[in-house]
Amino acid sequence: MSDFELIEPATGETLGSVSRATAEDVDRAVRRAAGAFPVWRAVNTRSRGRMLMRLSQLIHDNADELATLESRNVGKPIRDSRDEVELAANCFEYYAGTTNKIGGQTIPGAAPGVLLTFREPVGVCGIIVPWNFPIAITAWKSAPALAMGNTVVLKPAEQTPLTAIRLGELALEAGLPEGVFTVVTGPGSVAGEAILTHPLVRKLAFTGSTEVGRKVMEMGSRDIKRVSLELGGKSANLIFDDCDFDNAVASAVSSSLGNAGQDCCARSRVLVQRSIYDRFAKALVEAFEKVNVGDPLAAETEMGPLVTAAHRTRVQSYIDTGISEGATLAAGGHSREGAGTYLDPTIFVDVTPEMTIAREEIFGPVVAVMPFDSEDDAVQMANDSLYGLSGSIWTRDIGRALRVARAFETGNISINSGSSVHLEAPFGGVKQSGIGRELGLAALDAYTEWKTVYVDVS
Ligand code: NAD
Repeated sequence: MSDFELIEPATGETLGSVSRATAEDVDRAVRRAAGAFPVWRAVNTRSRGRMLMRLSQLIHDNADELATLESRNVGKPIRDSRDEVELAANCFEYYAGTTNKIGGQTIPGAAPGVLLTFREPVGVCGIIVPWNFPIAITAWKSAPALAMGNTVVLKPAEQTPLTAIRLGELALEAGLPEGVFTVVTGPGSVAGEAILTHPLVRKLAFTGSTEVGRKVMEMGSRDIKRVSLELGGKSANLIFDDCDFDNAVASAVSSSLGNAGQDCCARSRVLVQRSIYDRFAKALVEAFEKVNVGDPLAAETEMGPLVTAAHRTRVQSYIDTGISEGATLAAGGHSREGAGTYLDPTIFVDVTPEMTIAREEIFGPVVAVMPFDSEDDAVQMANDSLYGLSGSIWTRDIGRALRVARAFETGNISINSGSSVHLEAPFGGVKQSGIGRELGLAALDAYTEWKTVYVDVS
């Protein structure tokens, strides 16, 4: 096992170094997780719930340290990191309460005996997460997996392993037995693929790009692993002319620039009814230009740098493509000089639906603003995407809001709001945005198997 360096996005300086797990390291972690599985599933449900509740409390108690680690490692504003750490703690609290509430059924079958079902853990879960919300997404997957009695081998993104490593220490402090929750660090091509192909891993839970998601399905198919995927997005924000204009503008800013646009739910396509298009685009440009971009650790910062120099180069190349395909740059468009991977909040107008910037996930602070005429147009344009993760509808007409919400091909949608994630409700995508649901009680389906037992009582 060798080490690799982490770079702090805000400064370009070395932040630390972390072990690069080999396939042999992953094999050891998986074998230990397989050994711990019968122990963990046999822990009585009240004790298991209490340990997860203790872990939630430890996340709360260490929130400042975890949020600072996250901000320095990812480059996200400290207030957003605090919210993310809070979400992770709340997630462990929520699933701690499920350990003794999820059971099977007795079923009135046609046969004369007794027909029963059990909900059982799957086994070792290989969990692979991305760099944009490292501790939150780790919690979304690990908490329900552990609550149902599974053991976990977690691989954080190679760029952002720090909060996951700390979470591993806190899990031991909370009393989880060794091997129940193990963190392996390193690049996806080695440690990640070793998880995807390990025969003792029964279930793969992945969040990341659609491209790698395909690989997860392919490699997982070899021994029919259970697979759940949360993948990319190109979500639409539909702004009708009867909307609450000021709130719609404010939300169009926060729902596209939150986490510097490195958010699978980013509303990166802003579709505006033609009668208010010019006024809305002008207001959006003014609002983008006021966004406070700067040091992630400063309390007033609203947007930090992008996660790595390589990622900024990729986002910048989409901006160049937008210009060369004929869209008009109305705000931003430039990488900032000096230390740190900063990029200005960017708006394109005069965008047409076939342009690359209207179709592909850019994963940066870049929006494409496009006009529509009727309700039918709005729905057709919103659905003209390979993705279907999130979206918003802004209108004061409740009938229209619900008609459009029903017709919108997406897993999550908010009306007069830019929110996507509610801990207590299912979250996930349709089409190429993924398979399966996280959060809420729906997430437990991904981490349990049904077993049917028939008892002949004659
Ligand atoms: P990525 O797909 O490059 O990496 C995600 C994870 O997969 C990382 O841990 C990486 O090391 C690992 N990985 C990469 N190659 C692998 C391989 N061959 N085998 C196994 N593991 C491998 O994604 P990213 O750049 O870290 O994150 C950005 C993407 O994640 C965006 O597309 C975004 O939309 C998506 N995302 C989706 C959601 C959601 O809930 N739908 C949430 C956050 C991010």
